[in-house]
Amino acid sequence: MAAYPPKLSKVLAAIKFLMTRCENIYLTTDQNGGAGGLSTMPSANPLGGSFMVFNRTRDILHILRNFMEFFKEESCGVCTPCRAGNFILTEKVKKMQRGLASQEELDEIKKWGNIIKLSSRCGLGKSSPNSLIYSLEKFKDYFDLKIAPTSEFQNVEFHMEDAIHEFDTIIKDTQL
Ligand code: SF4
Repeated sequence: MAAYPPKLSKVLAAIKFLMTRCENIYLTTDQNGGAGGLSTMPSANPLGGSFMVFNRTRDILHILRNFMEFFKEESCGVCTPCRAGNFILTEKVKKMQRGLASQEELDEIKKWGNIIKLSSRCGLGKSSPNSLIYSLEKFKDYFDLKIAPTSEFQNVEFHMEDAIHEFDTIIKDTQL
């Protein structure tokens, strides 16, 4: 086992203890260093100020969507990669949740994520895609199941008339 400085060893011992208290056997992942940190399999890793523990009853995509919504809201909007990139990543996570994402979509998440990390101005943008990118790597089997089986499922029919029906009704009612 790696030799850690005494303070860090104490922190790691505390994490191990907490993991045991969380019934380690049921854990899916731990998230070290907050929403912008690393998502790993249950273990005692060095962390940056905080960690979150999730068990198997939590859906990884739901957790990631929460993280991305957080970064989208928190982005101050000065840099385009952070402002637009976190919006795009959030939409891609939502698409995955609807079962409409393709393998290209997953690859794009990594590409967009790395662009955001490289070109954002402050730590928020630089760390915002971390959990998403790491999760795609660590939980490949899970995400493989989230890919739509064929491209035909991604061409969901869109009916303009149906989509605006409610709006039209409201407008008509206001004109009576
Ligand atoms: S990276 Fe920082 S400065 Fe740039 S938009 Fe995001 S929060 Fe603002």
